[in-house]
Amino acid sequence: MATLEQFDWAHSFYELGPDFFQAKSPDPVAAPYLIDGNPEAAALIGLDPAEFERPEFVEYFSGNRPLPGAQPLAMDYSGHQFGLYNPRLGDGRGLLLGEVANGSGHTWDVYLKGCGPTRFARGFDGRASLRASIREYLGGEAVHGLGIPTTRSLAIIGIGELVYRETPQPGALLVRLSDSHVRFGSFENFHYTNRPEAVTRLADFILQRHYPELAGEANKYQLLFRTVMQKTARLIAHWQSAGFIHGVMNTDNMTLTGITFDYGPFGFMDRFNPDFTPNQTDGHGRYAFGRQAEIGHWNLAKLGETLTHLITPEIITEELEQYQPAFNRFYNELMGQKLGLEILDSEFTTLVGKLFHILYENQVDYTLFFRNLSAFPGEVPASLRQGFNNPKDLDSWLDMYRKLIEREDPDLNERKATMNQVNPRFILRNYLLERAIDKAMKQADFSEVERLRILLQDPYNDRPEIFSRYGIDPELYAAETPESHVEMRLSCSA
Ligand code: AMP
Ligand code: MG
Repeated sequence: MATLEQFDWAHSFYELGPDFFQAKSPDPVAAPYLIDGNPEAAALIGLDPAEFERPEFVEYFSGNRPLPGAQPLAMDYSGHQFGLYNPRLGDGRGLLLGEVANGSGHTWDVYLKGCGPTRFARGFDGRASLRASIREYLGGEAVHGLGIPTTRSLAIIGIGELVYRETPQPGALLVRLSDSHVRFGSFENFHYTNRPEAVTRLADFILQRHYPELAGEANKYQLLFRTVMQKTARLIAHWQSAGFIHGVMNTDNMTLTGITFDYGPFGFMDRFNPDFTPNQTDGHGRYAFGRQAEIGHWNLAKLGETLTHLITPEIITEELEQYQPAFNRFYNELMGQKLGLEILDSEFTTLVGKLFHILYENQVDYTLFFRNLSAFPGEVPASLRQGFNNPKDLDSWLDMYRKLIEREDPDLNERKATMNQVNPRFILRNYLLERAIDKAMKQADFSEVERLRILLQDPYNDRPEIFSRYGIDPELYAAETPESHVEMRLSCSA
């Protein structure tokens, strides 16, 4: 277990040279304080969690004192936002401090978000709100708890300064960990400014750092593209099966490692509705739940365009044709697990299609439906029937489902246990998150942030001892979203 001063820093991105970033230190802030430290994230980088208690922790991660060994930089990138190319994005308010390897050899980017304007800030203040920082912090934990690749966060640091959004509100900094901060938009930036050699260097950097097993192959760039395509397909299949809506799938929010990245107006689906997006700014529903897979393909096509000096357009097209089949394969596997079925044939596909139809028609809570399903084919629990205006829809679907279970003839106890480790009992419903944010902003009470962090790190199981220590009433957190808060929508800047 290392102290903050003992980190073994690496700076492989820094070594790419100044075309790729602006070197800059974080700006000091007034009166920083710790809001929450995440021991699970500390373990990822081999940091002793006792370090959260040292005054230096807050000093270092607020920018008020240089963190020994860090070499902060703001990355240059661009990207497509809502389908339109924006040539000037870049890290306007975040800095990559460097990379830290833990004992197991896995390397994490350590990144500070909200630490003052960089040369990419375009007139914005370079700061982050407490509200947005809490959302990203807990969003990452919830998504990780579901077994979906994502950034994590080490800590939230509050600051004694207001930030001005739609209203003045408390500011904060977020210490983010990610396997990579290189985005599709990083490649686009160099491609559209006609710097193919920089695209090549970035591709080589990604190969060396993340896919060394491909780096020696003659067709390494094609294999890189294929791997990113598959990882992206797998990621989005995960989102779809969990009912997660990213909300802002711009190409600057997609990494070359296929992880959930940049938590803005994201959400988990309440009642099954493919047209839903929690992003209020997205009037046309470009990033709605039911369009995420298609947008993944669109974004990959944009990444592919940047590689045309390395791979022929014909090969890129061929690779892209594998996206939808790959997505379908991953998605069917995941839905099979959710339904406790192994035979993924056309009858299975029909069953899933019919299920979505009845869930939509009856406006049933997506998460709770699957959680309750593990009791079937025993006694149909009353909870499963809840929410069905038309119980006949459920009965005819259950008949079909029963047949597919029977043809596999599983051990029912084992099946139930396995399904309950796939279908969560607790998800980060936006109203729960808003309650935690409210308490933090209005009363400077951060206990609900901690509670949700603890709860969501294992969303599948009741843990009575831990729950009683943190004052978690499981029934309350597992409940359906109250009517007044269903399909809550958020603006990008709120
Ligand atoms: P995001 O919506 O967080 O993906 O950010 C989109 C772009 O806006 C990125 O280039 C950010 O660095 C920049 N940005 C967002 N908020 C701020 C801010 N408060 N100050 C400076 N840049 C920002
Ligand atoms: Mg972004």
